[in-house]
Amino acid sequence: PTTLDAAFFRRWLTTAAAAVDREADRLTDLDSAIGDADHGTNMRRGFTAVAAALDKEEPATPGAVLALAGRQLISTVGGASGPLYGTLLRRTGKALGDTPEVTRDQLAQALRTGVAAVAQLGGAVAGDKTMLDALEPAAAALGESFTAARSAAEEGALATVPLRARKGRASYLGERSVGHQDPGATSSALLVAALEEVAR
Ligand code: ADP
Ligand code: MG
Ligand code: MG
Repeated sequence: PTTLDAAFFRRWLTTAAAAVDREADRLTDLDSAIGDADHGTNMRRGFTAVAAALDKEEPATPGAVLALAGRQLISTVGGASGPLYGTLLRRTGKALGDTPEVTRDQLAQALRTGVAAVAQLGGAVAGDKTMLDALEPAAAALGESFTAARSAAEEGALATVPLRARKGRASYLGERSVGHQDPGATSSALLVAALEEVAR
């Protein structure tokens, strides 16, 4: 589609919820290596709530869809990922404003604002072995295409393997965090893949 409406954003997030549900065990396995083995559970709880809220409230604009989803993540996910992903969606939604349809380019720009808010909230930068390692390159590549964003997120998630974690629970492991893929970067790649899937 050339313009993206509220229905598109609802499809994105419900597709993302299905992907998170399917991949929850893998996300938790990754988190058991360098965290506390709850990332899949956290994400599943959050995105189940997102899907239910979108079904019930049917927000009318892209910005309102993202704002509602972000609120659900913040209120239902106990772990670090809840406020971080919640902030990502809320700030991206706020940047989109209340227009009924947006272009991919407008979404790319808004997403960069949302990603910057995540970096500020978590005090992390790309290279710290966090979700930002997938989100930053994805937001940059979304200016080109949905497919480029998906590839960039997947490459960014894989590129966390040799990194040493500097933020979040994994940072407590120091050198022992090296050699494992970051769970949050992996879930970010799932969310961006869902976006590409609904845009196809
Ligand atoms: P918790 O670590 O509280 O159990 P989760 O397991 O749900 O929460 O999420 C862990 C993920 O959150 C990490 O893999 C990482 O990608 C992300 N994360 C943790 N801390 C930060 C931070 N300060 N900035 C950005 N992302 C972070
Ligand atoms: Mg965890
Ligand atoms: Mg936890």
